[in-house]
Amino acid sequence: MPGIERDVRPDASHGPRPPRLQRDRIERAYKEQLRRAAEQQKVEREARRPACAGCGTKLTDDRWKAAQAHPTPGPRWHPTLCDGCEDRAVRAASQAENEHQEQEEQIPGQKAGGWFSRLRT
Ligand SMILES: [Zn+2]
Repeated sequence: MPGIERDVRPDASHGPRPPRLQRDRIERAYKEQLRRAAEQQKVEREARRPACAGCGTKLTDDRWKAAQAHPTPGPRWHPTLCDGCEDRAVRAASQAENEHQEQEEQIPGQKAGGWFSRLRT
């Protein structure tokens, strides 16, 4: 490639090349800057990471991504909860639903509160 040959030749418009030591220092400073920027990005990212509304545990990357993609909660999907709390919430909801159905199956009019309130007086 003719371009390489041109780059090797001293070019007045670019000014004198910095000495090797200085170049190393600049490169090291640049790499350090990149490292710090990456670290800062990670810190900022962690600060934005949502925590579980149930137990306060920070959500995993997968969970966070899924919550961003599907922010609307559903009967089996709780974007504000971690996997464990969602599991419990889903189970509690289905249990409550079962109990509700069982209560509705009971004979109407038979309320436990009747004799209970009489006992207190
Ligand atoms: Zn949780």
